[in-house]
Order: sequence, then C-alpha cells, then structure tokens
Amino acid sequence: MRVENKVVIITGSGSGIGRETAILFGKEGAKVVVADVNEKAGQETAELIRNNGSDAFFAKLDVSDREQSKEVVKDTLERYGKIDILINNAGIIQDALISKMTEDQWDKVITIDLKGPFNCIQAVVEAMTKHGTGEIINVSSIVGLYGNIGQSNYSAAKAGLIGLTKTLAKELGRKGIRVNAVAPGFIYTPMTATVPEKILEMMKEKTPVKRLGRPDDIAYALLYLASDEANFVNGAVLSVDGGLLL
Ligand code: NAP
Repeated sequence: MRVENKVVIITGSGSGIGRETAILFGKEGAKVVVADVNEKAGQETAELIRNNGSDAFFAKLDVSDREQSKEVVKDTLERYGKIDILINNAGIIQDALISKMTEDQWDKVITIDLKGPFNCIQAVVEAMTKHGTGEIINVSSIVGLYGNIGQSNYSAAKAGLIGLTKTLAKELGRKGIRVNAVAPGFIYTPMTATVPEKILEMMKEKTPVKRLGRPDDIAYALLYLASDEANFVNGAVLSVDGGLLL
C-alpha cells in the first residue's frame, strides 16, 4: 500500500505503460483517474481497477486540449477533494526522416507529447500548491536523452520534457511539489507492436540484460517516484532501459 489514499491522474492510461501503471497504483491503494483520449480503452482500465476492489473513474482527455485538462482536474477535485500525483504518460509517435517529416507530423507530436504535459501540469499546480504537497512525473524516453534516427519530432518533445522536469523541480520544490521523469528504453506495448521482428531481436541483443522492457518495469519505477520513499528525489531522470544506450 505504497500510495494508499493518494489521488492520481494518469494520462494515456487506456493502454500499454499507462494501463499497467494505473492497475498497479490501484492495487497499492490509490484512487485512480484514468485520463485518456480513447474512451473504450480508458473505461476498460477503470473497470479493471474497480474489479480489483480499488476506486477509479474514467475521464475523457485529449492532453492537447487545455480546457479538457482543466475539466479533468475540476472533476477529480469534486470527486476526491485533492490531487496528490500527476503522471504525464500520454504520448504518440509519427516517425519520418527529417527530409520527409511533414509539418503536421512535427506539430502533432510536439503538441501531444510536450504541450500536453504542460497543459496538465498547469491545470493541477494550483490544487497541489494549496494542498502543500504533490508529485508530478513525466514519461520521457531514452530517445530524449540520446536521439534516434527518424524520430526528430519525438526526441525533441521527449528532450523538452526533461528540460521542463528540471525547471519545474526548481520552481515547485519550495511548494512541496516534486517533479521527476522516467526515461524508458524499448518497452513492448501497442505503441511498439508494429516494430519488425528483426529490429526487436537487434534491440534485445543490444540490451545488456538481453530482454525487451515490459510495461510493469516502468510502472514500478513510477510507483517508486510517486511514493514517500522518493521524498528527497526531485528533478531526476530515471532511465529504465535494461542498460541500453542508443
Ligand atoms: P500506447 O500503448 O500507445 O498508449 C498510449 C495511450 O495514450 C493510448 O491509450 C492512447 O490512445 C493515449 N493517447 C494518445 N494520444 C492521446 C492524447 N492526445 N491525450 C490523451 N491520451 C492519448 O503507448 P505506450 O507505449 O504505453 O507509451 C506510453 C508513454 O511512454 C508515451 O509517452 C511514450 O512516448 C512513452 N515511451 C514508450 C516507450 C515504448 O517503448 N513503448 C519507450 C519510451 C517512452 P490511442 O490508443 O487511442 O491512441
């Protein structure tokens, strides 16, 4: 029960890492707001948590929509009276080499993967400040640390998220709010399910622990950062990648 009675909003928790994290936080005693653009998937996650005996509700959220972000925060406060933890997990990829990348591909990824967390953080910060405590965790990527061919938009957004994390750790620390990031390596989820088998084998070979990541590898890292055990951890970027350096 490492997050007992804590209220957590997890964006993009209809699928993959977000869903696994939402279920784990539910099992660890949190009240979970499953915030996702995908209503069917989000409702399913919320139901899975409730079936385990924990409290959860689905909130429709496109993180690129500032008004919707505010609505989700308002609904959460009406229902639970506080927000302890925000996990900015929603993200997309739209890959292309720089010569072929369209403006639309660039804008979409920057808007969802970088502006989305900004929208959600701005929406929760007042409530967390009043409460005098809070944990914000941004899901970045090793691609934001090392870059990756064909992902200039995504790596720029994920690197931007690290800059945002470090700046807000400084701005908000004095208000009792910690801000950290995780940088997952290759994690097998619906986002990466279309990667060809040959590439998956290559990634596995390059990873010192000789396996690909699983959503629960990231969920446990997020749980640690959100828990009181990480009370003195602020502005950190925790790589969870099996030792893989791109
Ligand atoms: P995923 O399986 O595709 O799940 C992402 C979820 O976010 C989906 O439910 C998706 O809905 C939702 N979503 C998409 N756009 C949204 C928006 N605008 N607002 C709210 N929700 C939205 O992805 P994942 O692999 O679990 O990735 C989760 C996070 O980890 C992302 O930030 C990703 O960049 C990061 N990450 C992943 C890996 C990896 O290897 N998988 C590695 C490093 C970092 P739809 O399904 O309807 O699109």
